Amino acid sequence: MNAARRLLVTGGGGFIGHHLIKRLKSDGHWVRGADLKYPEYEDTQADEFEILDLRRWEDCLKATRGEIDQVYNLAADMGGIGYITANHADIARNNILINAHMLEASRQNAVKRFLFSSSACVYAQSKQKDADVAPLREEDAFPADPEPGYGWEKLYAEELNRYYWHDFKFETRIVRFHNVYGPLGTYDGGKEKAPAAISRKVALAEDGDHIEIWGDGKQTRSFMYVDDCAEGLLRIMASDYHDAINLGTEEIVTINQLVDLVCKIAGKRLKKRHNLTGPQGVRGRNSDNSRLRTVLGWEPSITLSAGLKKTYPWIERELRKAGRLTEKAVLSVR
Ligand code: NAD
Repeated sequence: MNAARRLLVTGGGGFIGHHLIKRLKSDGHWVRGADLKYPEYEDTQADEFEILDLRRWEDCLKATRGEIDQVYNLAADMGGIGYITANHADIARNNILINAHMLEASRQNAVKRFLFSSSACVYAQSKQKDADVAPLREEDAFPADPEPGYGWEKLYAEELNRYYWHDFKFETRIVRFHNVYGPLGTYDGGKEKAPAAISRKVALAEDGDHIEIWGDGKQTRSFMYVDDCAEGLLRIMASDYHDAINLGTEEIVTINQLVDLVCKIAGKRLKKRHNLTGPQGVRGRNSDNSRLRTVLGWEPSITLSAGLKKTYPWIERELRKAGRLTEKAVLSVR
């Protein structure tokens, strides 16, 4: 274990932030969490947890006070493809404010290292038009043509982090996540992402039912289990690498294959009804981990099947607790 540090995780009430706090605590660090809300599904393990609105400058100064060594800046207004395609202005404004203020407040409060959570949504859309897509290398973000709203804002915040390193020698790290999933994540309400949304639909369905899939299901993605994400974050923070770096898996699947995998885990035979008007984002996206392997000598290794075997039962249990599973849906497991 490294020497214990004082760490701040913004977005500590969210999916990745909550998992990261658990990991940092088990490694023996002192951790402050900050968010608009507490974690939804279990209590935080942070030593301090503050309800703050990090769009506000004063709140960012407060979050970063008191000799914090490292900041994991995970706070963001974000959601699945339905949410990010419908809310360009809100998402861009909120996240620009959070990222600019968090960076400068961290610098003023003499934080030693700052990690920015970017996204594969920064990649040029023109390079993701084919389901059989070439894996995305970090340089594929330019010439810039990212996802409207969320992708533009992330790409510009990456640049801002780079400027802080070049102009102030303020130690920044830039991580591009590719679709993170796992237990304790949003699975309903519009902000959930594909693995959680599909798990919910499968859990609620009775054997033989139809479930709705956005698009024709042939669009492709890779998905990273949240424990691999936390491990990668720690390793990138510990590295001396300042440019953007992918953090994802190279295990590409179609959305139809993802549905089949969840059905198999659930033990249900379901039919897919493809909603061709539903938002589906880019046609194909996969991570090229060459840089990650070179810089860290490590990459995520938890397979999609292994990760879903932990994620699906958690979502099913949550639905059961909420009284949303019909007797037949429970009994329809083969
Ligand atoms: P999440 O929505 O679960 O967590 C984000 C947290 O930020 C939420 O708890 C939210 O309340 C908080 N937040 C939003 N606005 C805030 C504000 N004004 N002040 C304080 N807190 C605020 O999302 P996540 O999946 O945990 O994502 C964490 C980071 O990783 C984000 O920056 C996101 O853009 C990035 N990311 C995630 C994925 C993924 O697949 N989950 C993919 C790419 C990038």
